Amino acid sequence: MAEVKVLTEFYHLDEYQTLAGYKAKGGYETLHKAFKMQPQQIIDEVKASGLRGRGGAGFPTGMKWGFLPKNGEPRYLLCNADEGEPGTFKDRMMMERAPHQLIEGMIISAFAIGSNKGYIYVRGEYVFPIECLYKAIKEAYAAGLLGKNILGSGFDFDLDVYRGAGAYICGEETGMISSLEGLKGQPKLKPPFPAVQGYLRKPTIVNNVETLAAVTYIVKDGAATYRKHGTEKSAGTKLFSLSGNVMKPGNYEVPLGYPLMDLIMKEGGGMKPGRKLKACIPGGSSAPVLTAEEVAKANLDYESLAGLGTMLGSGAVIVLDDSQCMVDMLGVLTHFYAHESCGQCTPCREGTGWLDKVLHSILEGRGRLQDIDLLIKVADNMKGKTICALSDAAALPVLSFVTKYRDEFEFYVREGRSKVKGATYESHH
Ligand code: NAD
Ligand code: SF4
Repeated sequence: MAEVKVLTEFYHLDEYQTLAGYKAKGGYETLHKAFKMQPQQIIDEVKASGLRGRGGAGFPTGMKWGFLPKNGEPRYLLCNADEGEPGTFKDRMMMERAPHQLIEGMIISAFAIGSNKGYIYVRGEYVFPIECLYKAIKEAYAAGLLGKNILGSGFDFDLDVYRGAGAYICGEETGMISSLEGLKGQPKLKPPFPAVQGYLRKPTIVNNVETLAAVTYIVKDGAATYRKHGTEKSAGTKLFSLSGNVMKPGNYEVPLGYPLMDLIMKEGGGMKPGRKLKACIPGGSSAPVLTAEEVAKANLDYESLAGLGTMLGSGAVIVLDDSQCMVDMLGVLTHFYAHESCGQCTPCREGTGWLDKVLHSILEGRGRLQDIDLLIKVADNMKGKTICALSDAAALPVLSFVTKYRDEFEFYVREGRSKVKGATYESHH
């Protein structure tokens, strides 16, 4: 097994960024096909494909679309391109290399769910991808692919880009909707889920960039062809952002179920000379860390990673070699979550701040042995009690790092320095 390029087949071609280049490779032909189908047929095809949300939660896309009310009231399609999860950079590449692929996927998805208005909410730091999207949207309007009566189908769809302002929490769908409405980007309790009541209190489907891009391929080749890749419960291919201590970091598209070790050793070119694999965070910073022994057993699908107590998440695979200090690494993560908590819920606001302070007192040589259990206690009390998933996301890495690498934490407290030779600490504060 190796890379299978379904979505990324033409990403190496610069001209694929333009309408002409995209069309030369069959772009927008699927849109013609989609307009000859009934919207429900498209929804059924997406359901049959087994496509699951590629933003991180892995919720079945067709099922989410099925939650929309059937009464024909106005609804919105919102593309989540906020991509804030540490280690994740796949959507950025998709928007830069193939903006029309996303636009085509959005038009087809909007037609399926009966939406005439869509937004792409892009993280503010993504200046170049935003430029690429603007250019492509302009081209699509000029070619009659967006706007009124697209390709003579009678279907209207307008698409805008909305630029975020650098808050991680605006990637959470209800926070994103609030931000889009001009309010503070804070998450809201669910239910109601956006599919029932979202943007401007209207039904809203929020899907990730990669999810929407995949819809085109499912409609083009059919659900059965899509299902040829991946596993029974985790169908299709997925883009993985591989980073950290590997020879060839980058984005790789592989079938779901692909062995994690192969991604690191084959696609990623393995470890740097003289270095050994120590650990791996398989699904963005909120996914519990895996030891090298666990990496050897892990496959990149939702079920295999859940079986090892972690998750596939956004597909950000962060590789750590034996030069990494786990206490320092956890310090970076806890500081990130403390900074990004929106502060609405007490366990999250106080818990993330507390974890950050305790860890940094250890890293600054002021730690006490009881602080190690305090980290576990605080993290345990942050789980399952808050409006959104950020609190759990901050707690899970702490629990896994401290449990699996406890000797490093104890050494740090006793000696006031890292157990890892040569590791130095730079304050994150
Ligand atoms: P979730 O499980 O609460 O929801 C997933 C999706 O399913 C949402 O769109 C939700 O509206 C929908 N849904 C679930 N139940 C529903 C129901 N009964 N009716 C209608 N719709 C329903 O997860 P979440 O909080 O949206 O996402 C968490 C994940 O996000 C994390 O696991 C993490 O991996 C990921 N994440 C990704 C990034 C990134 O940059 N890509 C950043 C942060 C977090
Ligand atoms: Fe805000 Fe944290 Fe509550 Fe989420 S869990 S709403 S980030 S305080």
